Amino acid sequence: MLIECRECKKTMSSAAPACPACGCPVVIGGATVTTERTAKRWKKLYMVSIAIMAVSAIIAAVAWVKAAELHSSLLQFVCYLGVAGLVVGIGLAAYCQLMTWWHHE
Ligand SMILES: [Zn+2]
Repeated sequence: MLIECRECKKTMSSAAPACPACGCPVVIGGATVTTERTAKRWKKLYMVSIAIMAVSAIIAAVAWVKAAELHSSLLQFVCYLGVAGLVVGIGLAAYCQLMTWWHHE
């Protein structure tokens, strides 16, 4: 894509890091693009943390029921792992929410 240099008004490639004529750095959309991209990255991680929460909750619930049924200490341990995963997921989700909000400022 060809763009016009904001300094010398000559046409140049938007792929160039700076204008070849005057050396002015290329800014397309500027900080807004970076902000949106960063926010998107945090939103993606937020989705991952939701998935971690869901999977951990299922593991914890199933292990809990099975541990009571079979009196298995291993399943009890798996249940604790599930609960720990759930806590991590909640923490990560909260952190992502915070970071998304932070980058929107
Ligand atoms: Zn220029």
